[in-house]
Amino acid sequence: NNILESRKIFKSYQNNRKLKLEVLKDISLSIERNKISVIVGASGAGKSTLLHILSGLDRPDSGEVLFESENIFNYTDEKLSNFRNRNIGFVFQFHHLLPEFTAAENVAIPRMAAGAKFNEAISRADELLELVGLFDRKDHKPSELSGGEQQRVAVARALVNDPKIIFADEPTGNLDSKNSESIHQLIIRLRDEFNKTFVIVTHNPDLMNLADRIFEIKDGRLINQQ
Ligand code: ADP
Ligand code: ADP
Repeated sequence: NNILESRKIFKSYQNNRKLKLEVLKDISLSIERNKISVIVGASGAGKSTLLHILSGLDRPDSGEVLFESENIFNYTDEKLSNFRNRNIGFVFQFHHLLPEFTAAENVAIPRMAAGAKFNEAISRADELLELVGLFDRKDHKPSELSGGEQQRVAVARALVNDPKIIFADEPTGNLDSKNSESIHQLIIRLRDEFNKTFVIVTHNPDLMNLADRIFEIKDGRLINQQ
């Protein structure tokens, strides 16, 4: 049961000497619903670029990404952006929380951007902060939270519009092992209790151990999947 499939994705960039750099070559893969898929490979292999294309943040030069059997790159930019807002959550290595807002406000903002009223968005944010174990920190600003707490706020924010898939790029890259472990437990719980699908780029061996599926990228090609 696949939620997302890529077919023959190619992507290149031009470097500053106008040379064409092929970053992704013929990537076809399937992401299973309600599973944790992990993308691994050396730095520069093309993992982040692949994540951006699978999530519709970036368009490939050629190839398709099918979400529930529909090619998202047939969408206009506006429809693609609506698709992301409705179906996709993102967690990055550096959380990009807004420093002048509280944890609850940071989580609520994308909900309001999707059309919710302030009170509805804040009560949804409170629920999610409770889920990630930070209800008692909801009125704190990011600078008053530890790195691990900030990342859990970022996870709550990624969940606020109830996306089906969560994409994460090195979600524990900046965390010590204790805080990484709490993010791992949260990912497992979101898969098992909330039926979320994860696609995660990581170098963290503990996170690879949690994976249901592993895709290995080398020099822009998918060289192994298990
Ligand atoms: P990884 O995530 O595996 O480290 P990336 O997908 O970030 O790899 O990058 C793959 C290659 O593409 C690298 O050589 C990188 O320098 C290049 N690259 C990534 N983004 C751009 C860009 N916007 N413009 C030019 N080159 C890029
Ligand atoms: P990461 O792989 O840690 O996610 P990034 O995706 O930010 O890091 O960048 C990966 C590589 O792509 C880096 O080597 C960076 O220099 C290169 N890169 C990213 N964006 C651009 C760009 N706009 N132009 C040229 N190179 C880029």
